[in-house]
Amino acid sequence: MLTVGCHLSATKGNAAMVKTALSIGANTFAFFTRNPRGSKAKPEDPEDCAKAVQLLKEHRFGPLVAHGAYTMNLCTADPEARAFAADVLADDLRRMAALPGNFYNFHPGSHVGQGLEAGVAYIAGALQKAMAPDYPVTVLLEAMAGKGSEIGGRFEELRMILDAVGREDLGVCLDTCHIYDGGYDIVNDLDGVLSEFDRVVGLDRLKALHLNDSKNPFCSHKDRHECLGQGSLGLDTFQKIVNHPLLKEKPMILETPNELPGYAAEIRLLRSMEEN
Ligand code: ZN
Ligand code: FE
Ligand code: FE
Repeated sequence: MLTVGCHLSATKGNAAMVKTALSIGANTFAFFTRNPRGSKAKPEDPEDCAKAVQLLKEHRFGPLVAHGAYTMNLCTADPEARAFAADVLADDLRRMAALPGNFYNFHPGSHVGQGLEAGVAYIAGALQKAMAPDYPVTVLLEAMAGKGSEIGGRFEELRMILDAVGREDLGVCLDTCHIYDGGYDIVNDLDGVLSEFDRVVGLDRLKALHLNDSKNPFCSHKDRHECLGQGSLGLDTFQKIVNHPLLKEKPMILETPNELPGYAAEIRLLRSMEEN
């Protein structure tokens, strides 16, 4: 069975998210660890976390894929803002310990003109500080569309971060809209893209997928998500993904422009595409 879900609002707490996920046929989900555009984190609620952990186990969920705030730029130019972002990352990872065994994905960051090398060094430094050896969370770098000075739009850039951090437990999340936008043609050559990923990053690092269609044509570096089948990727691409031996076991998260009923329909659609 596919492990598939979508982004959910975290405002009502973790147990409520599990119940919402169940109501739309999901067996994983994503959520922002704090206000996606701000930096304020929810107050910690150990009881709610324990309840969520119990529900996840009871209903055999796959790993959740938490998402760091969009505003967290670990390689921003202002030293104070950069230190703040690093603190946010450390706090997020510490909090994830209340939901053990899950993933925490984030956008590596934008170097805003400081250059790729400097940006990678800042990102890696923050990760080395934040990733305590005993946290029961796997951190994932999200592959990006390469918009502006975004780092992570090339597999080589993800590799640079992995090398600079030097830990085996740092993974990658591939976002279908981002990588197609970034110049990896998963529509016409999914196998070729995966072998390129394996060569540069290593398939053992691939832990999760974001499933999004794209509003823009191949290689446009724009990062505008579209509903499945309504963009330049098309349903055939998602059919190949959910049946691909290297991908079908990974948690798949929808970040399409939908409310819950739309997400429920896309989850049903993906499950109906599964051939076995
Ligand atoms: Zn993302
Ligand atoms: Fe994404
Ligand atoms: Fe995106």
